[in-house]
Amino acid sequence: PVAEVPVPAGPEVATGTEEAGAAVVRMRQAANLRLAHPRRFRAAQLKGIRRLVEEESGAICAALAEDLGKPATEAMLTEVQPTRAEVDHALLYLTDWMEPESAKVPLTFRPASAKIEARPLGTVLIIAPWNYPFMLLMAPLVAAVAAGNTVVLKPSEKAPATSELIGRLIPQYLDPRAVAVVQGGAGEVQALLAERFDHIFYTGGERVGRIVYEAAAKQLTPVTLELGGKSPCVVADGRNWSAIARRIAFGKFTNAGQTCVAPDYVLAVGEESQRQLEKHLPQAIQEFYGTDPQQSPDYARLVNTEHLERTVALLEDALTGGTGGEGRAPARLVHGGRADVADRFLEPTVVADVSPDSALMAEEIFGPVLPIIRVDTFEEAVEFITARPHPLAAYLFTDKHRYHRAFEERVTAGGMAFDVALLQVGLTTLPFGGVGPSGMGAYHGRAGFETFSHLRSSLTKTDQVDTLKMIYPPYTWAKRQA
Ligand code: NAD
Repeated sequence: PVAEVPVPAGPEVATGTEEAGAAVVRMRQAANLRLAHPRRFRAAQLKGIRRLVEEESGAICAALAEDLGKPATEAMLTEVQPTRAEVDHALLYLTDWMEPESAKVPLTFRPASAKIEARPLGTVLIIAPWNYPFMLLMAPLVAAVAAGNTVVLKPSEKAPATSELIGRLIPQYLDPRAVAVVQGGAGEVQALLAERFDHIFYTGGERVGRIVYEAAAKQLTPVTLELGGKSPCVVADGRNWSAIARRIAFGKFTNAGQTCVAPDYVLAVGEESQRQLEKHLPQAIQEFYGTDPQQSPDYARLVNTEHLERTVALLEDALTGGTGGEGRAPARLVHGGRADVADRFLEPTVVADVSPDSALMAEEIFGPVLPIIRVDTFEEAVEFITARPHPLAAYLFTDKHRYHRAFEERVTAGGMAFDVALLQVGLTTLPFGGVGPSGMGAYHGRAGFETFSHLRSSLTKTDQVDTLKMIYPPYTWAKRQA
């Protein structure tokens, strides 16, 4: 029985580089003893996660409010419920996913049987960022335990309240012999990366993504990299402009723009799109957050003053045309722009006439500033996107079927959504991941289970009758004719 697997106990939450290394050793021992393999053990861990989400949603929302000023409803909608959906889906399909799939055997190989079986990888590392600090740690955890692995979790130190809560709850709801939490920052991650894992799952920015990828390469450890980038949103044409504006504003200003799949910028095709967006986006913002968003209970804060100051600097640079004498035309403020550093507040902001050469258009904004760039044709919008690194998401608003098809055909992006933003990541039936510089690998639902599994092939062929004589040497004339 699983309860008797002799795995040494360690500290419930590891801190510091030494304890981080020791946590990995413990998780490896448990994996070697196949502690997390049995279906019942996996189901028990999944049920543990479900109970954690059900019973602790109040504490989770409170922590997210502390770290990011996340409104409780938004926290439920974007962190708690998606985790719950992943865990429910995994519990529903676990037996099915674990079932070996038999493969066809051609006549020349018979009699024989062949199968493909999802096997646990062993011990995996999950590194999460600060922007959805609960969900981006827990959703991969669901997939990793469903696949029968032991897991080392590294929450983001930049969301300290949520990380502390996760460190406290995980040992309460999951078996500490199979899931370890390591707290800390770059130093602890470096210590973890020096250990050997069977898979590393990293969500976060590109810079650390490279560090993780390089460290993994040294040990030939496979990785999933969930990165970011500038996700474009093309508005080609439309009729229901208030709905279009609401959908874009929701995509952009949820979590104050700190969402990896948020529309980073809008490409407005033609004068009509530009005019309608400039009219309706401010209205949508006001509908959502009132005339003073700082007073709204429904608007989040930036994660820290550093990140706020960086976002404000990008905005100011665009509005002034750059301070370095680049001679760019200044952008035009359409809405918002007010910041309060002490409150980590930046108003939902829309800017137009943004130069594609500005810093605002060079790096992922990751804050509540939405640039609108005017293009004359749909063709030009597609060329704008394809000339840049492949984004994590690409959005198109149009009523024209041929634009829809051309966008699907010509744009490369991790995922797409048409006439809506953000929602595509909420489906457990859709794999979620980037392509090229926006990441590699995918998860959610079955894709997550497979990411954390090895799809092992095996062939069984009886030796009671030796049907292989025909292929053994010597290759006589008769065999050559066969
Ligand atoms: P972050 O600063 O929290 O870093 C992520 C993780 O890397 C943390 O656990 C941190 O401890 C670790 N880390 C930081 N510096 C390190 C170093 N020098 N060496 C080793 N490890 C280190 O988060 P972030 O990178 O600021 O996250 C924001 C980025 O994440 C954005 O670019 C966003 O687009 C991307 N993102 C992607 C997804 C996705 O699912 N694809 C989701 C959310 C965020």
